[in-house]
Amino acid sequence: MNVVEMDNLKKKLDEIDIKLLDTLNERAKLVKEMIHHKKLQGLPAFDPVREREMLNHIAKNNQGPFAAETLQHIFKEIYKAGLELGENDNRKALLVSRRKKAEDTIVQVNKDSIGDGKQRLIAGPCSVESYEQTAKVAERLKEHGLTLLRGGAFKPRTSPYDFQGLGLDGLKILKRIADEYQLSVISEIVSPNDIETAEAYVDVIQIGARNMQNFELLKEAGQSRKPILLKRGLAATIEEFMNAAEYIISSGNENIILCERGIRTYERATRNTLDITAVPILKQETHLPVFVDVTHSTGRRDLLQPAAKAAMAVGADGLMAEVHPDPAVALSDQAQQMDLEQFDHFVSILKNFGLHTNKNE
Ligand code: PEP
Ligand code: MN
Repeated sequence: MNVVEMDNLKKKLDEIDIKLLDTLNERAKLVKEMIHHKKLQGLPAFDPVREREMLNHIAKNNQGPFAAETLQHIFKEIYKAGLELGENDNRKALLVSRRKKAEDTIVQVNKDSIGDGKQRLIAGPCSVESYEQTAKVAERLKEHGLTLLRGGAFKPRTSPYDFQGLGLDGLKILKRIADEYQLSVISEIVSPNDIETAEAYVDVIQIGARNMQNFELLKEAGQSRKPILLKRGLAATIEEFMNAAEYIISSGNENIILCERGIRTYERATRNTLDITAVPILKQETHLPVFVDVTHSTGRRDLLQPAAKAAMAVGADGLMAEVHPDPAVALSDQAQQMDLEQFDHFVSILKNFGLHTNKNE
């Protein structure tokens, strides 16, 4: 074949492509019209019986050289793309995504505007064990000009024989301390039935890693008027994490703080593997504030500081860390909670690194 003949062939192919293009778009217009009418009649856009008939029709009319299976595969994609034309936009662009909302969401927690560019610290014991134990930590937070106290009342423990938390009594302790020290309190809720109760005691409801895909809990959190701190699941992809947040936002609550807390990998040097790039990815892909829990991700006291610096350097809106007056006798997470002196050191180092407190306003 000479050059001219080759060029002719190319031209013919180009013409056919344009015909295909026009035909596909013509088809798409009809599909859109049909979906519109189906919606008006309350019918689902996708009809599997009809689609089977269409695929059979393709196979029956096929004269080759393509195999029927190949063509069915191509047509299946065309049908799928057609259906997507009729889907509501949320499927294509999640409500949590930047595509849907370009500006940052600021989550107001009393006087703190989380996500406003200042990097904050949520700190406190793993578990609320007593008023005295939690108050000691609260006092230290207050001294540093920190305003966000965490403490677990309902503890999702790996073993059923381990301390399960004080439950409602723990929430009551947190509320008393919040009032006495003018702090905002954050605590995990594990059951959808407790969300409403928790609203009377806490400022932010935490949904923990183990419950990231507890869809009933997420939907209930979506109906709450309290902000939600949602932690990434132990083995969740970023997409799954975003979809978990989507459950909350699509149920009506936009006040969501995402929290990267490490994922399970083969690496055993740390308790989990801190996925540091999840922070800039989530900041790019969503409009929500992103925190990093340095305690549960590393599981190592000696790594809290470098992990916190890394998180701040990649643009996290804040950090979470655990602190206990006497970690050696803590009822949970003894290995990684800081004692009060270590906490003082941690805070002073991070203040130099740009951590926001009421004392450096
Ligand atoms: C916690 O923050 O108390 C906790 C249990 O963390 P995670 O859900 O990330 O394991
Ligand atoms: Mn803990």
